[in-house]
Amino acid sequence: MDCIFCKIINGEIPSSKIYEDEEVLAFHDINKAAPIHFLVIPKKHIQSANEINSENSKTIAHIFEIISKLAKDLGISEGGYRIVNNCGKDGGQTVNHLHFHVLGQRDLKWPPG
Ligand code: 5GP
Ligand code: ZN
Repeated sequence: MDCIFCKIINGEIPSSKIYEDEEVLAFHDINKAAPIHFLVIPKKHIQSANEINSENSKTIAHIFEIISKLAKDLGISEGGYRIVNNCGKDGGQTVNHLHFHVLGQRDLKWPPG
């Protein structure tokens, strides 16, 4: 499949990995929007948040557990951080493999652009 993130998972494209287990992978975003900016993705290809369902929602719950762990490991849990999922065209999704951005170590503004 022609998916950048599937290629990162199978090692065809290198990435700066932070965490990996049988279900999920976390790696630094190539184009940082904050001093700490990493992505957490399911290893199974899921197109977007529109495809989250009762079959795969356990993996999504696991992703959030890992985000909480990594935020502590990377030292942003106390200062706070933002978890972002861009879904579809209006959401600004550019890679069609479900991913959660985690942004920290800067004073993030609200609402986003
Ligand atoms: P989206 O706009 O779909 O929510 O986010 C896609 C994110 O993936 C962007 O922040 C972009 O910088 C990141 N990205 C795209 N290609 C690569 C890549 O090859 N490696 C890494 N590490 N990040 C990527
Ligand atoms: Zn994929």
